Amino acid sequence: MADTSSTTIQTILSCRCPRCGRGKLFNGVLAVHDKCQACELDLTKGDTGDAGAVPIIIVLGAIIGGLAVWTEFHFSPPWWVHAMIWPTVTVPAAVLLMRLSKSVMIAVQYRHRATEMGL
Ligand SMILES: [Zn+2]
Repeated sequence: MADTSSTTIQTILSCRCPRCGRGKLFNGVLAVHDKCQACELDLTKGDTGDAGAVPIIIVLGAIIGGLAVWTEFHFSPPWWVHAMIWPTVTVPAAVLLMRLSKSVMIAVQYRHRATEMGL
């Protein structure tokens, strides 16, 4: 018998279907597939939309803002260094965290058989 908690974590981290672990969860960067390509689990009811965006904006904004202030006080770089560094760090981090957030929420809904997923 497989360890379900490690399997669930692997499924979440690899952004795969919570039922079969094989089908890709995302169709592009942040759009969720309508159905799992491997087992045809209906993923439309588990799509969380922008639900994970608010905590990510708050936490990532605090971290990036803190790093920007720390960088300014310790190194005093010209303004264009800030303009080059922080968007380059923030955008990929936000996309990665949004993908993980959606993957976690869909897996949790599936695991706890949320009625919205039609299980
Ligand atoms: Zn599947």
